[in-house]
Amino acid sequence: MLAPLAISPARVRSMSQLPAATDILIIGAGPTGLALATALRTAGATPLLIDKQAAGANTSRAAVIHARTLEVLEPLGLVPALLAAGLKVPLFTVREGGRVLASVPFDHLATAFPFTLMCPQDVTEAILLDRLTALGGAVVRPAEAVAVWPGPKGVQVDVVRDGAKATVAARWLVGCDGMHSAARDAAGVPFEGATYPEDFILADVRMDWPLSREEVTLFFSPAGFIMVAPLPEDRFRIVATTETAPAQPDAAFVQAMMDARSLGAGACRITETVWSSRFRIHHRVAATPRAGRILLCGDAAHVHSPAGGQGMNTGIQDAVSLADPLLAAVRTGDEAPLDAWAAARHRVAEGVVSITDKMTRVAAVTSPAARHMRNVALTLVGHIPAAREAIARTLAELDNR
Ligand SMILES: Cc1cc2nc3c(=O)[nH]c(=O)nc-3n(C[C@H](O)[C@H](O)[C@H](O)COP(=O)(O)OP(=O)(O)OC[C@H]3O[C@@H](n4cnc5c(N)ncnc54)[C@H](O)[C@@H]3O)c2cc1C
Repeated sequence: MLAPLAISPARVRSMSQLPAATDILIIGAGPTGLALATALRTAGATPLLIDKQAAGANTSRAAVIHARTLEVLEPLGLVPALLAAGLKVPLFTVREGGRVLASVPFDHLATAFPFTLMCPQDVTEAILLDRLTALGGAVVRPAEAVAVWPGPKGVQVDVVRDGAKATVAARWLVGCDGMHSAARDAAGVPFEGATYPEDFILADVRMDWPLSREEVTLFFSPAGFIMVAPLPEDRFRIVATTETAPAQPDAAFVQAMMDARSLGAGACRITETVWSSRFRIHHRVAATPRAGRILLCGDAAHVHSPAGGQGMNTGIQDAVSLADPLLAAVRTGDEAPLDAWAAARHRVAEGVVSITDKMTRVAAVTSPAARHMRNVALTLVGHIPAAREAIARTLAELDNR
């Protein structure tokens, strides 16, 4: 059993070094861990943030930032840089070939940010890191948590840095360490769900594209769906499922999918593939985001289909909403707000996994009868303003306020 830890700032030497003890240890400096460290720093705390990678990931991955995420990031001083880097897109459209089945405008949403902001994940992470650094924070890296020992009053974590192992005693541990979370495993929290059978492909391309840069388009087709979203620097993000794909789909592979699934053969011409990836998607939710002194945020707590671009957004919102309850626990010992946070974020995670699963399955329907029913239903819904607004609110995650 661990004794309660009283941490003075003096014991936390340089943030580039590993202290023997800390109030809050965050494992993982992806978007979730960076957002949490920034929120805690903004509130005057000095968490220890470690990551096993020598440098941040430099790939595009999650490219959508939703209105609710911008709302929670605004008090942290992050929004001006994100708006400068990203591309505002105010319209989401579902089409089959050239026919519009439903249009979902974001520009009527009751928010200061009535649009989706397209911004590659590496750029978002760089902006988060810049802000954290400006607040005096840092990522200690490479530093890998190799063992986690939970106790009732704190957590001991063995960390390997520069080839040497050191033990850090943390009063609270936050696992922002992604889908294969060591923190979650150590806490014994089940991560239940399944894996989609298809491959997902992602490609950031340059292409001649006849539709507006102010529209994200989801195309349904007999061969499966394909989504096209504009990105900054005149690029486009393309997402599709397929039975099998090469590990790095090339321009010819993506062109063939676009020809078969979007506006018809020859309607677009891909001139460059900037980045591409094939991956398998899981849909899983941690049984709880709180197990004693271990808390879970982001992909450590939930993974799901990229439909609707909810993944990174939900993780950042987990993190920012954790800062105040965690600080209350550290400063006053009151853990009730943490329990409320855990219950609320578990509900949100279950909702996101459920809705993205439905979206993925509906988009993937291939039988002619089911496709006809889906398209009729969607066209009807698309004509009801209140329904369009409800879809926009859900996608923008404004229901999570
Ligand atoms: C190819 C690809 C495409 C994607 N596309 C989309 C998309 O289009 N839309 C979308 O919403 N989402 C997408 N995602 C998912 C999105 O990238 C994640 O939801 C997001 O990165 C989660 O952030 P996170 O900070 O919770 O976890 P991660 O980004 O996984 O970060 C976890 C961090 O923890 C570190 N870490 C792990 N274990 C340890 C340890 N033991 N010790 C120290 N450090 C550790 C890792 O090095 C990593 O930096 C995609 C993911 C991939 C891989």
